Amino acid sequence: MTNNCFSGYKDLIEEDDLTLIWVSRDNIKPVRMQSEGVFNTRYGSFPHKDIIGKPYGSQIAIRTKGSNKFAFVHVLQPTPELWTLSLPHRTQIVYTPDSSYIMQRLKCSPHSRVIEAGTGSGSFSHAFARSVGRLFSFEFHHVRYEQALEEFKAHGLIDDNVTMIHRDVCRDGFIIKRGDTTSYKFPNNEATASLNANVVFLDLPAPWDAIPHLDSVIATHEKIGLCCFSPCIEQVDKTLEALEKYGWTDVEMVEIQGRQYESRRQMVRSLDDALERLRDIKRHKLQGVERRKRMFSNTIDSNDDKIEKRNGEGIPLTEKAKFNPFGKGSRIKEGDSNYKWQEVTKVETEIKSHTSYLTFAFKIIDKSRDDEQFNEILQSKKD
Ligand code: SAM
Repeated sequence: MTNNCFSGYKDLIEEDDLTLIWVSRDNIKPVRMQSEGVFNTRYGSFPHKDIIGKPYGSQIAIRTKGSNKFAFVHVLQPTPELWTLSLPHRTQIVYTPDSSYIMQRLKCSPHSRVIEAGTGSGSFSHAFARSVGRLFSFEFHHVRYEQALEEFKAHGLIDDNVTMIHRDVCRDGFIIKRGDTTSYKFPNNEATASLNANVVFLDLPAPWDAIPHLDSVIATHEKIGLCCFSPCIEQVDKTLEALEKYGWTDVEMVEIQGRQYESRRQMVRSLDDALERLRDIKRHKLQGVERRKRMFSNTIDSNDDKIEKRNGEGIPLTEKAKFNPFGKGSRIKEGDSNYKWQEVTKVETEIKSHTSYLTFAFKIIDKSRDDEQFNEILQSKKD
């Protein structure tokens, strides 16, 4: 049993729990519950003691300041996906559309031993930590290393399956030795840690400088999957050169473009609508000319407004009459039964994903057959 609050499940919110308070879709706040604490929003204050003891997922309501209305928030259990949307940004981060795709392509599982460089804001580290057996996360920026280490400790990741290392991987590689700045706990007789990694993720400005160091820390008898996350194509180009030079194969580059399609209704417009629109433009133009003439001759009087609000037949232009199906005039509610509509698909623009290029490659260092293991497998099939 670990105190990793990102894996596992619990029903009720307890004192000292990390909760993610959902105020709105783009306003989710990580808050540690303290019975004396208060969560302040511009709508009012939510005392933690009203949240502690409630089931995760509850809606918490308060009366808003100075009015008789309600404000509410939802209190959610931390998940890597919600953490990505609420974490304190120290760097650019990897968002869920990318991280989930990368983990699926690299076949991440509890069997995976992952090298990640650099740690950055720890967004991807949380997603890896939930799915893989072991994560070795390297960061060369000292303050960022310390901040990530504190955060991972507070979330129970260090006690569970995450090791942090303060290191410039491009210059010094990935081997962890005694005396290094790391959270790695060396067993008594071990001088260097055995990483035996089978998955590598590089989110670095110069991954091609880190690639030559990988052979000494990846597993030799397995297919190793690697992904480099690079925002520009020139970086991809240099990475491809390094991958080829160091024997990586099955190289493929993809880009994730997060899109959500929603079903909407669009007004059907006829030729008559188009003609009416043209007449409308002409009418407005004439009214403008008339008004300017009157302004120049200083004849504007208080009746002008009334005149302008009448159409050619002297009928007052109500909001409805002013509407024109090509977009100007009063607003029409989508689906209004006075108009004709057709079903369309629209793209939702709000999905966050950082558009970087993902370069995948694979490598098997030792392709020789382990005859003993092979015979064992053969035997077990016969039995
Ligand atoms: N993937 C991270 C996330 O999802 O939060 C963001 C990584 S951020 C874009 C890149 C990080 O790599 C930075 O924190 C930077 O300090 C670190 N970095 C850059 N070069 C490095 C190197 N040679 N060795 C180790 N870390 C490095």
